[in-house]
Amino acid sequence: MTPAPPIPVSSATDALNRIFGYPEFRGQQREIVEHVIDGGDALVLMPTGGGKSLCYQIPALVRPGVGVVISPLIALMQDQVDALRTLGVRAGFLNSSQDFEERRLVEAEFVAGELDLLYVAPEGLGTAGVQRLLDRGKIALFAIDEAHCVAQWGHDFRPDYLALSMLHERWPDVPRIALTATATTATKDEIAGRLQLTEARHFTASFDRPNIQYRIVAKNEPKRQLLELLRAEHAGDAGIVYCLSRASVDKHAAYLSANGIPALPYHAGLDSRTRATNQSRFLREDGLVMVATIAFGMGIDKPDVRFVAHLDLPKSVEGYYQETGRAGRDGLPSTAWLAYGLQDVVQLRKMIDGSEGDVAFRRNAGRHLDAMLALCETVSCRRGQLLAYFDQEAPSASCGNCDSCLTPPESWDGTVPAQKLLSTVLRLQRERGQKFGAGQSIDILLGKHTEKVAQFRHEDLTVFGIGTDLREAEWRGVVRQLLAGGYLAVEGEYGTLVLTERSSEVLRGEVTLMMRREIPSQRSRGGSSSG
Ligand code: ADP
Ligand code: ZN
Repeated sequence: MTPAPPIPVSSATDALNRIFGYPEFRGQQREIVEHVIDGGDALVLMPTGGGKSLCYQIPALVRPGVGVVISPLIALMQDQVDALRTLGVRAGFLNSSQDFEERRLVEAEFVAGELDLLYVAPEGLGTAGVQRLLDRGKIALFAIDEAHCVAQWGHDFRPDYLALSMLHERWPDVPRIALTATATTATKDEIAGRLQLTEARHFTASFDRPNIQYRIVAKNEPKRQLLELLRAEHAGDAGIVYCLSRASVDKHAAYLSANGIPALPYHAGLDSRTRATNQSRFLREDGLVMVATIAFGMGIDKPDVRFVAHLDLPKSVEGYYQETGRAGRDGLPSTAWLAYGLQDVVQLRKMIDGSEGDVAFRRNAGRHLDAMLALCETVSCRRGQLLAYFDQEAPSASCGNCDSCLTPPESWDGTVPAQKLLSTVLRLQRERGQKFGAGQSIDILLGKHTEKVAQFRHEDLTVFGIGTDLREAEWRGVVRQLLAGGYLAVEGEYGTLVLTERSSEVLRGEVTLMMRREIPSQRSRGGSSSG
């Protein structure tokens, strides 16, 4: 095969216009591109769909040598390289999926300077073979894509990324550009620290995604709620439904298919052929719904994903933002819908408590979950709260495109019910030395004569039956909101309720707790709520 001749480019704008076919740079692209062409390091925080790729692809074309792109998305490298080749860019990749002959060819092209861009997997860069190879060619720049994978607390941590600090030591004169769609200051600092990007200029784009409508509803009957959402608002649309477990993925994919909505499953338990087939069908066919664990989605460039639905609570706001960010890359109206209930909190806490991480890890995971809960329970604009989490300001106090702004939730003073609930937990513990989950505590407040109430003689408690003014669903809301505010915690395998340091603030009447009124979710009429 004769190597393709290089496309001569005279400037960044020339490359943008003639190779990529775009009239103008978007947002901060021009500044970033020029900075890297001049040899500067850069740390780029830009939301999904913001146009990160051009930020390193154009400098790679303009600077002499080959742009080396480190990406964890091995499954997508072939697609990325094919897309670039169609444009006439000389691109290649090196990863574990190739045989010896394919690798040898790419390596030869690299050494001969016949490539503009070379994609490599992070684990490859750690090997002496690849490092020696890179020494034999001229490197235009290093682009570290999905740079948040270096963050150890993050949801996408890849140990191989830690070794990338070596780039700076081994090739000190090659500019580096790290890119991510994760935006917290903490993650940014961790990326800069671990990759030794001390001199890098930081570019932070707005993380607002105005075309995404954020909605969070109480989980009653998730299957039916999901089906109603898809039928009423997204008939024939492509979308992603995220579930926490593989079993739940399989169950919901089957359920949607049985109800006339073409759906495919995706999770790490499926063999790699099935995963690849389902992924490529989702990308290429219209109107397919991918039901998946969070194993699916990073780097997926499908512009017309019209909705992202979460049937389980994400573990962090970062995760939620990343996952919902896969909707509406084309800028058209899209929905981010999440159904969550008390059981989610119990389950995630259990996962954190039972995890292998040390105390610091668990504390951190707990904090991430708390922030996610706070987003769920907020009575104000979801977008505002989301952006505030990323230390960014919302364009206005009311975005007009989230459930809080579209149908402002009624808030009510839940201080007294909160006190009743906390005293129930307190009394069970003090007077009986017992811990129970939300269900039993609520039964006590409602004065229910269940078997379990009789067994433990809970009728004798002074709090028995003092909460009949609220419905069970409302009590569950009170528990959720106390958990979200850190006034109550769940622990152990059975999700027992325990008081926290902050519980006393509520018990002593030092805080007023305004709560989100439990309204039946927009389109789910009737049915009893157990969320
Ligand atoms: P990210 O990696 O930040 O998620 P991409 O680099 O994949 O985003 O870009 C998202 C989409 O926007 C792509 O389809 C890309 O071709 C397009 N795009 C990027 N920059 C521009 C631009 N300056 N003008 C028009 N379209 C652009
Ligand atoms: Zn809003």
